[in-house]
Amino acid sequence: MGKVVAAAVTVVSLAALGGGAAPPRAGGGACTLAPGALTVDDLPAGSSVLDCAAVGRLVTHAGAGVTVPGPGMKVSVDALTEDGSLHGFTLAVAADGTVSYGDLTHADTDADAASDHARTSVAPGRARAACADDAYATAGHKEYDTYEWFLGDGTLPGNLAPDDARRALEDAIGTITASRNDCGFGDTVTAKARFLSRTGNEADIDRDARCMARDGVSVWDAGDLSGGVVATTCSWSRAVSGGPDSLREADVRFNTRDHTFTDHPGEACSNTYDLRSVATHEAGHVFGLAHVGESHESQTMYTNSFACSTAARTLGRGDVLGLRSLY
Ligand SMILES: [Zn+2]
Repeated sequence: MGKVVAAAVTVVSLAALGGGAAPPRAGGGACTLAPGALTVDDLPAGSSVLDCAAVGRLVTHAGAGVTVPGPGMKVSVDALTEDGSLHGFTLAVAADGTVSYGDLTHADTDADAASDHARTSVAPGRARAACADDAYATAGHKEYDTYEWFLGDGTLPGNLAPDDARRALEDAIGTITASRNDCGFGDTVTAKARFLSRTGNEADIDRDARCMARDGVSVWDAGDLSGGVVATTCSWSRAVSGGPDSLREADVRFNTRDHTFTDHPGEACSNTYDLRSVATHEAGHVFGLAHVGESHESQTMYTNSFACSTAARTLGRGDVLGLRSLY
């Protein structure tokens, strides 16, 4: 139990996190980026996307990646993995073009071991544990208005018919907006969502679970992601003075190439993910929640999902408190 997410609020402070390397300086063409994918060390905190001509370039870190947005925008990638390893970070570009990062966490072997343990022993006791644990983390953005989302027109998780997939996802998103829980906590959360239609647009997430340039349409779909990744959320937001950033788009993709999903996990369930549990976790990211780590397996916003478990369909105490802190 080495790395602990404090039982109190953990807010990612973009300003407090920086790279160790000296930022490339402007002037005289000093900032010249190599072609191809960049790492966070190539475009460190404090550097300028304008001086470095970095908008639209791919930046990777610890198995995750994002496409650099323009000034005033922030992009977050959150990958839900089968082994509890962490794949996600945030890249923010200030109005003047300055880069900062949040949540530059690394996968670590302790988390893997903990999740293996949790898979067999924590899930059954979740109800009690979930209602006692008040840990949460927020990502620095929220949906100020109504999250309007589309369903992709390709194959859907669990091979569900479009109406069934829509209902399952709508229910999962509704669990976040209504802060549904089995702990008896009332709903004071004001978040709102609305399904619009199916779309030919796709989630702007590539096969390596990296956030591509956004198309302005929030799409939930299915496809191929890196093998260990069960689902990925990319969210884009715009800076708001004095408050959390304002969500502009959030896309979610389920990895149906490497994993199976079902809307009805039964006793014969094996190596299959409960669609609503995974979707509820992803919807948490959409609305501004970040991961809680080791020893918080009972929360929906734990870093990984438990195959065949429906526990994450409802929220834990920390999940509810996190939403209340934003809405
Ligand atoms: Zn996640």
